[in-house]
Amino acid sequence: MRIVLLPGDGIGPEIAAATQNVLRAASERFQLNVQIEEHAVGHASLQQFGATVRPGLLETVRSADGLVLGPTATADFKDEGSGEINPSKYFRKNLDLFANLRPARTYPGLRNRFGAFDLVVVRENTEGFYADRNMEQGNSELLVTPDVVISLRRITRHCCERIAQAACKLAMNRRKHLTIVHKSNVLKIGDGMFLDICRDVARSFPELTVDDVLVDAMMAHVVRQPDRFDVVVATNMFGDILSDLTAELSGSLGLGGSLNVGAKYAMAQAAHGSAPDIAGQDVANPISLILSAALLLAWHGERSGDAKYQSAGRAIEDAVAIAMQRGLATKDVGGNLGTAATGQAIVAILQSDTATASTAAR
Ligand code: NAD
Repeated sequence: MRIVLLPGDGIGPEIAAATQNVLRAASERFQLNVQIEEHAVGHASLQQFGATVRPGLLETVRSADGLVLGPTATADFKDEGSGEINPSKYFRKNLDLFANLRPARTYPGLRNRFGAFDLVVVRENTEGFYADRNMEQGNSELLVTPDVVISLRRITRHCCERIAQAACKLAMNRRKHLTIVHKSNVLKIGDGMFLDICRDVARSFPELTVDDVLVDAMMAHVVRQPDRFDVVVATNMFGDILSDLTAELSGSLGLGGSLNVGAKYAMAQAAHGSAPDIAGQDVANPISLILSAALLLAWHGERSGDAKYQSAGRAIEDAVAIAMQRGLATKDVGGNLGTAATGQAIVAILQSDTATASTAAR
């Protein structure tokens, strides 16, 4: 398997290095022959090539079996014409990575104030309230006068259908419970259509229990009783916001794994940003990107029919759970290890025989 790794900005290089070590250890243990090819993206690429995503990088990524993208300083990138492209948007759009899977779960041994849970937010990734995603040309935020802005949201039947399908299929492999999160009481047409389509698609999966919750109420329900949820499907921005909350409820934003998936390609990407406030201090939690890479291996296994990759993905998840149980973790989740040492602890567990599904209690 050939993986392109783009470390990104802020804490990106630190968590990418830890992730690379874990991928290599999993490759060795499961004899995957994973080849990792590193390229610059974000500020490093802007300095070197005059663009945050240099020409030709997309083709390099397309020719590989998977992409791992570290967080980038998207707030800094304002002018596409000057090469300041949002790398996250660029790959999601150009690789048509329409489904963003964001699992969140608690770990025995880690403090959790809201009770144990295990859920996945399935977020639509290619349209919605993201101004850079909706138009063939230009941007869907319009400056009408210097004092008036209109931000447009695109919702299409096609994108609703495919995200609903992805969520239903995932729910069928889990606890068979789908929750549709929306705001159809206000966004009656757009979210109304999203809700109707999700319900329609779910009818083809009669084993699923399906319910729906308004997005504002969801913020209360998921804090009050997170174990009530299994797979939660939402439009782009609602899913983005909700998944930061669920990651934090699980212990830390730094635990939130994330895989962007389309029909042909997949991109592992931490759910959080470049965290400039803690960059370069060896304190960032690398687990979000490590778990994202585990999801990428599992995706490749399913696609290629090679179960070794799925086993490797599971083994990484189990090794993370064991590390958490033993308190081998960064400060944000109550540990006292640095970024690199947390990665090394997960590598050591992976290399030992204890990292099996049976030992990692949920
Ligand atoms: P952030 O997600 O980077 O950080 C929010 C808070 O969580 C900070 O206190 C940070 O220290 C903490 N945090 C984040 N990741 C952590 C980790 N792995 N371990 C421990 N603590 C962690 O959000 P922000 O500070 O608002 O944004 C910073 C930059 O990241 C901005 O330029 C923003 O646009 C960008 N961003 C990028 C992505 C992406 O690349 N996918 C996503 C969100 C934000």
